[in-house]
Order: sequence, then structure tokens, then C-alpha cells
Amino acid sequence: RAKAAGGGRTHVFGKALRLELDQQAALEAALGTALTQGEFALHYQPVVATETDVIEGYEALIRWHRPGFGPQPPDTFIPVAEKSDLICEIGRWVLREATGQLSRWTAREPERYGEITVAVNISGRHLAEAGIVADVENALARSGLPAERLVLEITESVLVDVPTAATHLLALKELGVSISIDDFGTGYTSIGQLQRMPADTLKIDKQFVTFTTPADRDLVTLMVRAAHSCGMQVVAEGVETQDQLEELRALAADSVQGYLFARPLPAEAVEGPPGVSREVPRAADVV
Ligand code: C2E
Ligand code: MG
Ligand code: MG
Ligand code: MG
Repeated sequence: RAKAAGGGRTHVFGKALRLELDQQAALEAALGTALTQGEFALHYQPVVATETDVIEGYEALIRWHRPGFGPQPPDTFIPVAEKSDLICEIGRWVLREATGQLSRWTAREPERYGEITVAVNISGRHLAEAGIVADVENALARSGLPAERLVLEITESVLVDVPTAATHLLALKELGVSISIDDFGTGYTSIGQLQRMPADTLKIDKQFVTFTTPADRDLVTLMVRAAHSCGMQVVAEGVETQDQLEELRALAADSVQGYLFARPLPAEAVEGPPGVSREVPRAADVV
């Protein structure tokens, strides 16, 4: 009897695993055609100056409207896309779309958008390719956006793990774009290494910004000081409360980004009345 039950379990487990593998295969197949089917969209989240509440730029964050599944957050498909060169194709699309959007906004409302930047997340696999420099150049040329208005976000771990990263970043900097180190504090960079990184901005990861442990405040203080001594600007991400904002102001973080100001919103929603909305949209609004 025990043997029979065990066999049954194996069978059930096998079925569940099989289902998961099938779903994974279906996801990979659907992702492979998503680009040509026009299923991706960018949402934009404002980056706000701590002192003045003025919007300095927007971070472009990808969404996938997978037919039959609704909007998908990037964590569910970017890692899958990163297994192949698909991530580079997606990266090229994101670069073109984001630079094109800011360029159109600027043409329409120069007084509102003429000074701001757009930040794009670049995957480690794409940064490792020599073609990354041409991809960024092409996006700028097509859109007519000045290079100074494009920010490339690279995660801290990529800077450490990708051997060609430093070379490609220097070539990108030559174009005039800015480099931002994303999710800082989650990798293994020593603060001393910051000096050698060709970056303009350091983005403190949201895990520190909640100030849940007493050490968080000290860590943020250290990161701000280290970045400033290296001549970098500091952006704190994941700011959700007024208390966090005031804390970050006191700790001299230059800019903040988070639900306190706005969720990542579709381009049409960004085009609403000017000024930063402090109202958090209902959860149903966006992914
Ligand atoms: P990230 O670049 O660190 O982006 C910040 C993430 O934090 C975004 O998640 C954003 O929606 C979320 N966020 C913003 N404010 C708050 C807040 O106040 N509280 C909390 N809890 N979260 C907040 P999202 O959009 O799901 O993106 C997740 C990650 O996926 C990004 O992290 C980035 O690493 C990656 N990603 C997004 N778009 C792209 C893309 O176009 N290309 C590539 N390669 N990666 C992308
Ligand atoms: Mg980012
Ligand atoms: Mg981040
Ligand atoms: Mg992240």
C-alpha cells in the first residue's frame, strides 16, 4: 500500500513538473514573438529632486501585455529574455521607444520636457556586446534626442561581473550619455571601487530606503558620502512615505523615485496636468 501511495505521489509530482515546464516553454515561445506583435510598452516613473520636488527625468520600465494573461511585470520575463540574444533586441526597442518618446514630448511641450532626462535599463548581456554603442548611437540619431538627455542604468552586479562592461561604458560616455549604477548596495562592490566606475549617478536600492533597521540610516549616509566624494549624484529608489522622503532629504540624497510621487505610468498618463502627483494611484491602475 505504501508503495502504491508513493507511486501516486511520484505521478502527481511528475504531472506538476510537466505542467510547469509546459508553461515555461509557452512563455518562451510567446516572448519570442512579443516584439514583432507589438506587445511591449514602456511605463514612465518620475525622478524628483529632493530639495525642490521638480521632476528631473523619468525611468522607462518595460511591461509586456501578454495576450490572455494581461500586463506582466519585468521580473517574470526579463530573466527569460536574458537567456538569449532576445534581450538585446528588446534592449534596442526600449532605447528607440524611450528616446523617441522624450523627443516627441519635447517637441510638443518644450517648456515642460526640454530639460529632463529619460533613463533606460540595460541588461548585462546587452552591455557585454560591442554593438551596444551603435545601438545607443542609432537610438539617439533616430530620435534626435541630445545624448545628455539619455541615462543608461546598469546594475551594480553587471559592472562587476561583465569583463567588457568598463570598456563599453567608456565608449558610451564618449557619446555624451550618463551612466547610473542601479540597485546599489545589493551587489558586492566595495565602496572603494566606486572611484573607478565610469558612472555619474548612484541609485541606492529600495531595500535601504525603508529604514527598517537602525543600520540602514548609517548605510545610506555612507553611500551618499561615498558617491558625492566621487562626484556622483545620488538617487534613492522605492520612496513610499513622507517620512522616508524627509529622512533622505536630511541625509542629502539628491533625488528620489517611488510610489510617494507616482507609480510607473503609461506615456498617456504622464501627459496629464503638469506637476508631481503625490497621490498613489489605486493598485488596479498599473502593474
Ligand atoms: P529597477 O530598474 O531597479 O526599477 C525599479 C523597480 O522598482 C520598478 O519595478 C519599479 O516599478 C519599482 N518601484 C518604483 N517605486 C517603488 C516604490 O516606491 N516601492 C516599491 N516597492 N517598488 C517601486 P519593475 O517595473 O517591476 O521593474 C523591475 C526590474 O526589471 C527593474 O528594476 C529593472 O531591473 C528591470 N527592468 C525594467 N524594465 C526593463 C527594461 O526595459 N530592460 C531591462 N533590461 N530591464 C528592465
Ligand atoms: Mg532601473
Ligand atoms: Mg533599481
Ligand atoms: Mg531592480
